[in-house]
Amino acid sequence: MPNTTDTSNPINQEGFTTQILHHDRRSCDGLAEVHAPTCNSVLFGYEKTEDLCDVFQGRSNNHAYARQSTPTTNTLQSLVALTEDSPRSLLFSTGMAALSSMCLTLLKAGDHLIASRFLFGNTHSFFNSLIGYGIEVSFVDTCDATQVAEAVKENTRMVFTETLANPGTQIPDFKGIAKICNSHNLVFVIDSTLTTGYVCKGKELGAHFVVMSLTKAFNGHGNVLGGALVDTGTYDWSNYPNIFEAYRKGDPYLWGLQQVKKKGLRDMGATLSAESASRIAIGVETIALRLERSCSNATALAAALAKHPKVETVYHPSLESHPQFNRAKEYFRLPGYLMSLDLKAGYDPIEFLNAMPLVINATHLGDNRTLALPVAKTIFHEMGFDNRQAQGISENMIRCSIGIEDPQDLLDCFINALDKLEHKE
Ligand SMILES: *Cc1c(COP(=O)(O)O)cnc(C)c1O
Repeated sequence: MPNTTDTSNPINQEGFTTQILHHDRRSCDGLAEVHAPTCNSVLFGYEKTEDLCDVFQGRSNNHAYARQSTPTTNTLQSLVALTEDSPRSLLFSTGMAALSSMCLTLLKAGDHLIASRFLFGNTHSFFNSLIGYGIEVSFVDTCDATQVAEAVKENTRMVFTETLANPGTQIPDFKGIAKICNSHNLVFVIDSTLTTGYVCKGKELGAHFVVMSLTKAFNGHGNVLGGALVDTGTYDWSNYPNIFEAYRKGDPYLWGLQQVKKKGLRDMGATLSAESASRIAIGVETIALRLERSCSNATALAAALAKHPKVETVYHPSLESHPQFNRAKEYFRLPGYLMSLDLKAGYDPIEFLNAMPLVINATHLGDNRTLALPVAKTIFHEMGFDNRQAQGISENMIRCSIGIEDPQDLLDCFINALDKLEHKE
């Protein structure tokens, strides 16, 4: 496997947070800055015309135009890759931009994609758009690798799953799927938005690509949008039919991301701005601290709510009753901050949410503040009752993204609201 790491950190045995904190300082050349400078230049001018030609012909790593790269986004790219112990990444304006650019540049009409049945709503909607472009999509339960194996066809190119599904918290059989992908030359893509490289590394799970929304816990403060595609450097693209001739040059492990960069980022243009990159680089400094706290808050709440007489089911991988409890322990450092619950019949989720002054009614995840919403009436409203049933979403389900508030305040808030809740016939 090629080693093309572009981070300049020489000390790989350092811990996760130490590496993040010192990354920018080590990447910037010669100046004493601790944060990468925010470069707002769209164009890059060269003294000699030959130098400009070198940039265009790939003989130099300098910048051509800010739609493709800037010094600021390059620095964050290597930081994002570092959080995944991976050689390289590519940044986009949003998580959906990373996901859609990857699919539209590596798949074409006639190809087949196998996707998890349990997906972020907008991803599900985007995959349905792909069907309109002539790409076949099969939705299967990726918790069960045999369902993936049975879906593989001659024209299958890619398998896509989320590390921890929202709102049901299902966890796929990563190693089983990776084995199937490797034996059929399929690209294994995981969306690690809810977990990030702190909770699990895509490379260790056998994924070739990791898609991430940086908008969620990666940045964590709800003040910037961003997305990334991380290349774990483990796929030999000479086995992949959809690589254009222009990109079939040099090390074949680099071809895939190169094509997404040129055909996706350059030609489709969903670029992350330098201002946004700079905010994300600051937000991620505390990711380990934030996730430790939000996940321990979620674990404490899950345990308390599971015992409450007005709660039917709590969905959180820390609970022994969770169908993938053992898998979570094997693959994840932490059980996650996403926790869903079904109230018992006769209790109204809206009344419950309105009784919690600390919990914000908002559609977002991985914020420092605790957020919640009634699933069937919001994020899964558009898909309709039948699709909700197929995904195992009850009409009473509440999704919570647990924040970093003081643990007792959160517990009091949830338990008081439940205690007050009245039964309706
Ligand atoms: C939010 C989210 C996305 C999309 O990210 P944006 O940055 O909001 O575009 C993709 N996947 C998952 C799992 C998400 O939660």
